[in-house]
Amino acid sequence: MFEKEESCGLFGIFGDPEAVQKTYFGLYSLQHRGQESAGIASSNGEFIQCYKGMGSVNRVFRRGTGFLEKLANPTAIGHVRYSTTGSSKSINSQPLLSEYSRGQVAVAHNGNLINAALLRDEYEAYGSIFKSTSDTEVIIHLLAKPTHISNPDPLAHVLNHLQGAYCLLFLYADRIEAARDPYGIRPLCIGQTEKGSYIVASESCAFDIIGAKFIREVEPGEIVRLDKDGLSSRFFVKPGTVTPAHCIFEHIYFAKQNSTIFGENVHEFRKKLGRQLAIEHPADADVVIPVPDSGTSAAIGYAEQSKLPFDMGLVRSHYVGRTFISPEQKTREQEVKLKLAVVKEIVTNNSIVVVDDSIVRGTTTRGKIRTLRQAGAKQIHMRVSCPPIRHPCFYGVDFPTREELLANNRNLKQIKEFLEVDSVGYMSLEGLLSCATLPADNYCTACWSGKYPIPVDTTVNKFSLERYQLQMFGDYPETNE
Ligand code: SF4
Repeated sequence: MFEKEESCGLFGIFGDPEAVQKTYFGLYSLQHRGQESAGIASSNGEFIQCYKGMGSVNRVFRRGTGFLEKLANPTAIGHVRYSTTGSSKSINSQPLLSEYSRGQVAVAHNGNLINAALLRDEYEAYGSIFKSTSDTEVIIHLLAKPTHISNPDPLAHVLNHLQGAYCLLFLYADRIEAARDPYGIRPLCIGQTEKGSYIVASESCAFDIIGAKFIREVEPGEIVRLDKDGLSSRFFVKPGTVTPAHCIFEHIYFAKQNSTIFGENVHEFRKKLGRQLAIEHPADADVVIPVPDSGTSAAIGYAEQSKLPFDMGLVRSHYVGRTFISPEQKTREQEVKLKLAVVKEIVTNNSIVVVDDSIVRGTTTRGKIRTLRQAGAKQIHMRVSCPPIRHPCFYGVDFPTREELLANNRNLKQIKEFLEVDSVGYMSLEGLLSCATLPADNYCTACWSGKYPIPVDTTVNKFSLERYQLQMFGDYPETNE
């Protein structure tokens, strides 16, 4: 935790008198997928309005601003962002609202396009001007190209030009179109309110919060259209022609425990991981404690399987957002102490198994271990519910560079020494995949195996589109397109 970030969360709803309110709550429940910026675009059937800004949903749409009231329209899409291409700036917040020869369109994206730089070069060579540094803007240029507009299905035609991971929501004045890449890397699902309005969202937890029901996932390579006639579907890639590559990290860390993604509840999946981890790496200990929140379900499974007591030796503060301390003061250990507190009664004089979902750089984990040692833990056995991460992600998860990854150039003995633990055990890749419901080859596992399902240029990074250091002097408006 605290070392890897998701790319974004999406929510869209058609034809509901409370569409904007519901989008606000939907985004709230997806806040774990991105806290850098938030935005909502809504349509009254003729025009689209958009408001977005930097920060969490609560901050952008804070009480008293009246933005939600001004946006009140029966159809809306919303977005929460964590940047994976383009820096964390107001110009890159979404939805991106534009006008082209066919009218207005607002676009919201979760994922990462791996051919965005190439496409942008192509358009810039013909004089196109870009106003953001995110990969999403290139999609609008593709949509507006006259030869694409004349295609019988312009959107399907445009999607076939994109490579990488993408779940996309397009809000037009009269409809929403939602699309998922042919590999189905990021999750996207369909729900319905009690009164029959259709919804699309990154995770099903967004349906729970507004009392809507989960219907199904958007299939890889599918476009779902929500309009006055209800829901219709078409495919821009023939079903069955591409082997899916669902990001299994969504199940391990990113998605919320009450969500159903890739056909399975996230909490249940993580408990299975914990049980498998206990089989692969048992430990002689007094108690199993999780690193909350994402390690909790796996720790429950580990404790069940190993017949050891489960307890909360670490508790998370949910009231610490971004901390306003200077970078010099901000050590990893301090950050850990602000976010996680030790329950000494559980830890002192006990041998403990600490279960976490993953380890990225390792500095944060070492901070937690030191805190537990200071509290008097007798022995600390670190257990991790995924294999050692050795490769970066190019499909929408912001890992550090390969060189910064703890497991990149260390063996298990060196990792144990670095973390200052008595033992360390990682889940095997085979063990991880054995817990999954779908066949093993239906998942992306590139951050462990280095086998990328879509070929990538490993020299590209999240700032590849920041060619000219966009300098916005003064108070660049956070919003209002
Ligand atoms: S590389 Fe890892 S984090 Fe990225 S999509 Fe694949 S499994 Fe997910």
